[in-house]
Amino acid sequence: MALQIVADLCTACADCEEDCPTASIRRKKGVYIINPDTCTECEGDYDKPKCIQLCPIDNCIIPLAA
Ligand code: SF4
Ligand code: SF4
Repeated sequence: MALQIVADLCTACADCEEDCPTASIRRKKGVYIINPDTCTECEGDYDKPKCIQLCPIDNCIIPLAA
C-alpha cells in the first residue's frame, strides 16, 4: 500500500515533502520520489494522503502500480 509520483508531471516544487508523516518523500535526480517501503498512504496520520492534498499538479501522485 503506497503511492508513487509520476516523474513526467512532477515539477520538483517540494510542496509534498515536508508534511509526509513517514518521511517517505525525497528528491532524486531532479524530481521527487516516494519510498514504497515506508509510505503508508498516511493511514493513522491523516484521513487522506497528505502529499496528494499538497501537490498542485493533478494526478501527479497516484497509487503504486501493482
Ligand atoms: S501518502 Fe502519506 S505517507 Fe505516503 S508519501 Fe504521501 S504523505 Fe507520505
Ligand atoms: S508536490 Fe507534486 S509536483 Fe511538487 S515535488 Fe511533490 S510530487 Fe512533485
